[in-house]
Amino acid sequence: TTEIRLDGVRKTYPDGTVAVDRLDLEIRGGEVLALVGPSGCGKSTTLRMINRLVEPSGGVISVGGVDVMGQDPVELRRGIGYVIQHVGLFPHRTVAQNVATVPRLLKWDKARTRARVAELLELVGLHGDTYADRYPHELSGGERQRVGVARALATRPPVLLMDEPFGAVDPQGRRRLQREFQALQRDLGTTVVMVTHDMREAMLLADRIAVLSTGGVLEQLGTPDEVKGAPANAF
Ligand code: ADP
Ligand code: ADP
Repeated sequence: TTEIRLDGVRKTYPDGTVAVDRLDLEIRGGEVLALVGPSGCGKSTTLRMINRLVEPSGGVISVGGVDVMGQDPVELRRGIGYVIQHVGLFPHRTVAQNVATVPRLLKWDKARTRARVAELLELVGLHGDTYADRYPHELSGGERQRVGVARALATRPPVLLMDEPFGAVDPQGRRRLQREFQALQRDLGTTVVMVTHDMREAMLLADRIAVLSTGGVLEQLGTPDEVKGAPANAF
């Protein structure tokens, strides 16, 4: 399993907005950490610095003990699945082709890719023959979200970053997807950092919760029980 460390990480955007301020976080291998806090408190920025979609202004981020700034961003992202709210599936590619995106980049052979795609669709509850050849517009929001999760997991990345991953899904589908995610994560031992504005979701899925306040300052860090017991001054 792969650990992630943030040491004194800061992000100031070019317009002067301080999004993250001297953030220290340690995410243990195989752990699910939820980042919660009010809108604009720097959750997405924090997540996106881990895969270098955003460059930190200071501090050090390491994944598996290696400083992310010393790595080629494309290489780095191969080991980091990324799921966002409106998944951003490729609209002119089928479900199977979307899930096969990273295996294709890595030039897996056809048989291996096909088997993996079928396995993943099964895992996220989209049985292959029904869904593989559909296009994203032929799916419900919840189904699209599942395809996004399957795509992110295709090559078993040791790290998964999720930004409001279940946000676009209706409440019932959301609970099902949350349960499926838990089972998957336990199986794979993936290290997960997830952003959510839903404290109940964080309580349900996370091993530990980091509560940020405006300006990207770490307010609380603890297990769901510890954070529940503390004054929720960030909300
Ligand atoms: P959250 O995910 O907690 O809602 P974000 O990380 O998206 O917060 O944003 C943190 C702060 O940084 C906010 O004040 C936001 O307006 C600002 N911000 C985010 N992205 C940019 C950007 N590209 N340029 C300037 N400011 C930004
Ligand atoms: P391309 O023309 O982009 O190579 P394909 O339509 O053959 O794409 O599919 C992309 C990937 O998805 C291929 O690796 C293929 O093996 C896999 N795939 C396609 N259909 C299925 C299916 N029904 N079940 C499992 N995998 C599939």
